[in-house]
Amino acid sequence: MKSIQQQLEKKGYQVSMFEWQHVKDLRKEIKALYEKNKISSGVFQNYLEKFYQQDQFDWKPRSILIVSYPHFPTSFIFNWQGIQIKAIVPPAYLHVAEGDKKVKHMINQTIQAYSNSNTEYRAEIYNKIPEKLAAVRSGLAKYGKNNITYVPNYGSYHRLVAFVTNLPCEQDNWQAREMMDNCKNCRICQKKCPTSAIERDNFLINHEHCLTFHNEEDSKVKFPEWIKSNSHNCLIGCLVCQQFCPLNQKVKNQVIVGVEFKENETAELLQGNKITDFSKKLAEKLNKADLFDLLSCLPRNLKVLLEKAEREDSY
Ligand code: SF4
Ligand code: SF4
Repeated sequence: MKSIQQQLEKKGYQVSMFEWQHVKDLRKEIKALYEKNKISSGVFQNYLEKFYQQDQFDWKPRSILIVSYPHFPTSFIFNWQGIQIKAIVPPAYLHVAEGDKKVKHMINQTIQAYSNSNTEYRAEIYNKIPEKLAAVRSGLAKYGKNNITYVPNYGSYHRLVAFVTNLPCEQDNWQAREMMDNCKNCRICQKKCPTSAIERDNFLINHEHCLTFHNEEDSKVKFPEWIKSNSHNCLIGCLVCQQFCPLNQKVKNQVIVGVEFKENETAELLQGNKITDFSKKLAEKLNKADLFDLLSCLPRNLKVLLEKAEREDSY
């Protein structure tokens, strides 16, 4: 329904729609890459296997709405042994449940107006498709050479959320997978990537070489030895290829200022990895900052950033 797209676009969201049947195409595309060894079994198991679990609806899905909304990095301050470090959490990690819920509410409010006694329209968040590929295939976004998706105005500083709906799809935007024209003669992200995960002649990055793949793991999992200690640059994920990308120049300084952690709180964070490990005050602070979901990987990731800062401080 074009009017729904228009309504959302008026509110600053970027939206695209495609027929439900393409969900199968997305899954096939991912499976084919996996079978050709273009996607490692680690990446498949950690991120993609869920796409193949049975769907259960008590209504007939007809389309997918895919929505992009602006999302910016958040910076936190940690005090530790007389030094102070700033640690960034890249876009699309924090406060996403609230953000997605807001979009869902808006969509459902808009489509209510089209429901009648025969049909009640609905939209539900659907995380069983690869959102990035869906956004590119539906023309909403384009891939960068770093395999991150870019949208007009916000570059890669956005979040994607997919909705399954029973709305008729008046305009099926399904199209070929595209990389941005700007990437044809640009190698900035490839040169800047601290772990050489971006390969010159491959469309797909080497995901198992990307820092994100490793620092999203539980803190019990140690970083492989080949990752140089000064590569680490974020509390989770990595922002290097996005920060240096010319297409993010307009947005790259948009950073949300997060909370500051005192020395004793930093010490607590280095030791604990679940909410019951922390004092009430720190638990409240972590809750407000929406850092609960990062707790399992936070002690290891914070430790390597502090060690890096200590080395730099001692020069
Ligand atoms: S840095 Fe250059 S090659 Fe990399 S995503 Fe941006 S424009 Fe494309
Ligand atoms: S996120 Fe970091 S490690 Fe991954 S490709 Fe980009 S620069 Fe390289």
